[in-house]
Amino acid sequence: MSDYIKKLRACIRWYMELEDGYLAEQEKLRGTLDAENSRHTQLEAQLSNAIEELKAANLDLTRRCENLEETLSREKSEKLIAAESYEKEMQERELAESSRDLLTVDLERVTHDAKRFSEQLKMVQDTNKRLQEYNTSLQQYNSNLQADASKSGETISKLQKEKSAMMETMAALRECNNSMSSQLESSRASQQEAIRVKEELRKEVECFRAELKQARDDRDHSVAQLNNLNIELANCKEQIGRSSKECESMSTKVSALEETCNTQQDQIQTLQKQLAVATEKLKLADVTAIEAMTGYEEQKEKIKYLEERLAHAESQIVEGDELRKKLHNTILELKGNIRVFCRVRPLLRFHGDSNGLEGASISFPTSVESAGRAIDLMNQGQKLSFSYDKVFDHNASQEDVFVEISQLVQSALDGYKVCIFAYGQTGSGKTYTMMGRPGNDQKGMIPRSLEQIFKTSQSLESQGWEYFMQASMLEIYNESIRDLLAPGRPNSFDMSASKQYTIKHDPHGNTTVSDLTIIDVFSIADVTNLLEKASHSRSVGKTQMNEQSSRSHFVFTLKISGSNKNTGQHVEGILNLIDLAGSERLAKSSSTGDRLKETQSINKSLSALSDVIFAIAKGDDHVPFRNSKLTYLLQPCLGGDSKALMFVNISPEASSVGETICSLRFASRVNACEIGIPRRRTSTSI
Ligand code: ADP
Ligand code: ADP
Ligand code: MG
Repeated sequence: MSDYIKKLRACIRWYMELEDGYLAEQEKLRGTLDAENSRHTQLEAQLSNAIEELKAANLDLTRRCENLEETLSREKSEKLIAAESYEKEMQERELAESSRDLLTVDLERVTHDAKRFSEQLKMVQDTNKRLQEYNTSLQQYNSNLQADASKSGETISKLQKEKSAMMETMAALRECNNSMSSQLESSRASQQEAIRVKEELRKEVECFRAELKQARDDRDHSVAQLNNLNIELANCKEQIGRSSKECESMSTKVSALEETCNTQQDQIQTLQKQLAVATEKLKLADVTAIEAMTGYEEQKEKIKYLEERLAHAESQIVEGDELRKKLHNTILELKGNIRVFCRVRPLLRFHGDSNGLEGASISFPTSVESAGRAIDLMNQGQKLSFSYDKVFDHNASQEDVFVEISQLVQSALDGYKVCIFAYGQTGSGKTYTMMGRPGNDQKGMIPRSLEQIFKTSQSLESQGWEYFMQASMLEIYNESIRDLLAPGRPNSFDMSASKQYTIKHDPHGNTTVSDLTIIDVFSIADVTNLLEKASHSRSVGKTQMNEQSSRSHFVFTLKISGSNKNTGQHVEGILNLIDLAGSERLAKSSSTGDRLKETQSINKSLSALSDVIFAIAKGDDHVPFRNSKLTYLLQPCLGGDSKALMFVNISPEASSVGETICSLRFASRVNACEIGIPRRRTSTSI
């Protein structure tokens, strides 16, 4: 039991110890719990802080979002406004156009009016003349009237004189009457005396009776006379009355006439005033007309003079240009250079969107020595200048371009080997330059060259020349040759190896391609048909740049052999016109598969071409003609006394700047090369 108790005590002690340990642990755990609690509260505080911040941020963001929405809506409304204004502008433009039409109509009307006014002026002048005539007639009429008035005044005075004369006669007659009556009285007295004396003087009675009788007779006569005189007097009185009436009517007439005369004089004066005003106006008009006429004459003379000077200057320019061309040609012939022409295509607008259609900053210096021969390109703020034998800007027509190469084409008739290449990236206008589009002004260099050759060969017939021409057209695609004129040619590539198309050169510098179709041509119509046929059978592939650009080299060859019956001369010329495949580098067209292979072989053959040109120029012993089909085919036409010209076609789009710089650099290097034998050396070696 004591053992057991001992064991139990030990046990109790152990338990006590254990309890102490647990207590200590509990204590420790409580301390950690406190620490954890405090940490927890801290974390909570941090969390709440973070939540606050996030809330603030959220608020801020929602506010910004609202702002943005507001700006969006504002911008939308602005866009609407802009669209509206654009529409309005369009309308306005239409309005302006219509108003312009109206104005042209107005102009016509105004010119018409001007015509009418000049006619009216003429009419006014006519009426003026007529008025003057009328005025003179009025003056005449007036003088006539005045003459009439003076005449009537004269008649009045005459009548008054007559009247006075009549009065006098009347007075005389009265006197006579008086004397007669006194005589009668005296006679009566004497009669009475005689009666009284009758008694006394009976004897005397008889004679007195006779006397008396006579006296009676006399008296009767006198009475009759008296009566007559009385009648006459009455007549005279009547006449006087009448003449006084007449006189009155005359005077009224005269006063009326005078009145009319006065009114007419007034009228005349007003008319004269009007006339004076009109003549003054006329004079003024005359003066201005004369001034205008003299001004017009002066201007006309000036214009004439300027036109003459312009024509003169133009002719001088033309002469100078011709001289320059000739000198340039001569220099080139002396140097044996490859000529390089650069042609910039216009921007094409038919894609609809403006993507990549902004023009690159290409400019054409206009200084005297570099006009038409230089091109400047701005790339990333850097100005690159290039100059070639000729630079055609986007305005140059096919005719303008052809004028520059016509001399070279002429050389083919003279018995030279001529090569004309078109180099440039796809879509830069190589095919446009070489073939052109159907239609008269868009024809390319190939149809124009052929036209010229046929025309010139015909005109040379009169000098005894007879030409024979053969055309062939082939295409080099992935380093294999295709015959574009093969009869019944299948559309796909004929790789069945039935035709080898191997190129062979003979020692006379003639090249033959086995199995190649060669067609004799006698007129431009023949060649046009061939070209049409060939362009249908060309390989075209799609790249991202130009759906219709060819991925092959196109070679048109015209062999010209001419002989002169008269002189026995014989010439063999060759004209090669080559539309090279697009020169763009791989990255740009991002091709894969077949396209990749194509692009690689194009790049290879183009670099082979430049290798050949540079090797010839350096005078290397080995020229790697065999590195590509194209150079091997053209071997006799590169070097020797051949003439080569390269068109470098340039796309004006800003997106093509990289390719453009590559093309321009390549062209400048080619331009510096001499591949022909300098003419001087030939002439001294003979
Ligand atoms: P490439 O043969 O180099 O691939 P294209 O000749 O097919 O290029 O030209 C591409 C496009 O540009 C064609 O639609 C062509 O008609 C047009 N074009 C090229 N040059 C001119 C030019 N000088 N004037 C007008 N259009 C042109
Ligand atoms: P021919 O009349 O004897 O056939 P051409 O006078 O037509 O020869 O000359 C042939 C080519 O050589 C022409 O293109 C001409 O411009 C060029 N040519 C001839 N003589 C010279 C010379 N002295 N310097 C430069 N070019 C010359
Ligand atoms: Mg093309």
